[in-house]
Amino acid sequence: MILPLSYYGSSILREKVNPVTHFDEPLQHLASDMVETMHAESGIGLAGPQVGKNMRIFVMEIPADMDLDEHGHRMNPFLNGPLVAINPDVEGVGDVVEEAEEGCLSIPDIRGMVERPYQVRMRFQDLKGSPHDVMLSGLAARCAQHETDHLNGILFVDYLGSVKKMAIKGKLKKLKARTLDASA
Ligand SMILES: [Zn+2]
Repeated sequence: MILPLSYYGSSILREKVNPVTHFDEPLQHLASDMVETMHAESGIGLAGPQVGKNMRIFVMEIPADMDLDEHGHRMNPFLNGPLVAINPDVEGVGDVVEEAEEGCLSIPDIRGMVERPYQVRMRFQDLKGSPHDVMLSGLAARCAQHETDHLNGILFVDYLGSVKKMAIKGKLKKLKARTLDASA
């Protein structure tokens, strides 16, 4: 089932959401609906609050051709198909940072350059509650950071420089007004 998205201006996008404690069938359904919604929206990641859920869960799927290093090798070969990350904890590794353009399904039509660690260590639980500990590089690392930010009420536009912030202020204001209208 495709789930309705929460857009910029929704209060849940600014909340630090709650850990998942029940690894049950409803959680599996939610994860599969989130993957379906991510595909329908042509996104590479989607977090719980973006579908109105106060839960620390995100899904991501990096297309193989966007996961290549400069030699054409897969950077994160274990990422095959969608990854479901529950109660994720992401920390930057090393001191290499990279600036790249980001967008967000909850903030349509706005993109901006965001600087983030190039490599991260992510600890998370899967749908059965089993713990995992992985290293991610490149776009996968960026996506995991963007999605984990969503679980803490942080949006990529928060990182933009003041000039860019000024430039998108009007667009954000309109989007927020539209979101509040739709929920009224
Ligand atoms: Zn997002």
